[in-house]
Amino acid sequence: MKNLFKTFFLTELLSGLWVTLRQFSFRPNVTVQYPEEKTPQSPRFRGLHAQRRYANGQERCIACKLCEAVCPALAITIESGVSDDGTRRTTRYDIDLFKCIYCGFCEEACPVDAIVETRIHEYHMEHRGENIMTKDKLLAVGDKFEAMIAADKAADARYK
Ligand code: SF4
Ligand code: SF4
Repeated sequence: MKNLFKTFFLTELLSGLWVTLRQFSFRPNVTVQYPEEKTPQSPRFRGLHAQRRYANGQERCIACKLCEAVCPALAITIESGVSDDGTRRTTRYDIDLFKCIYCGFCEEACPVDAIVETRIHEYHMEHRGENIMTKDKLLAVGDKFEAMIAADKAADARYK
């Protein structure tokens, strides 16, 4: 009897239409007009990688290769040598963005906060090979966005 009532008066159809009408006219829009509008981002957002330097300009990375070892996607390739000041440094540090799964393990493993994932997610590639983030490219991202990276690190530390 109940089913017959529902079928005859189309109650399920009407309740579905009511949901549509409610969203259509009485509630604020939930869609965001990207890219003009942006959604809030967490300081822990895992986007494009960067290599950081200390305030005196020295590279943080000490070529310990922990990030390379922990990377589940085998996306990091490191070669190391001894620099002019006698410290161990990377001579090659590549991240293949096509292999990377943005898990953040490299950032977690790094003992000196050298490799980080920034909140930058609006990037693209147009030519073959641009998926390889070389050491120079990573340092350039780090230099450009150091203020944002440092602020995100500080905000993240407050959650821990
Ligand atoms: S984010 Fe994950 S997959 Fe990407 S380079 Fe780091 S450890 Fe590897
Ligand atoms: S980025 Fe960090 S974990 Fe990776 S080699 Fe350099 S110091 Fe080690």
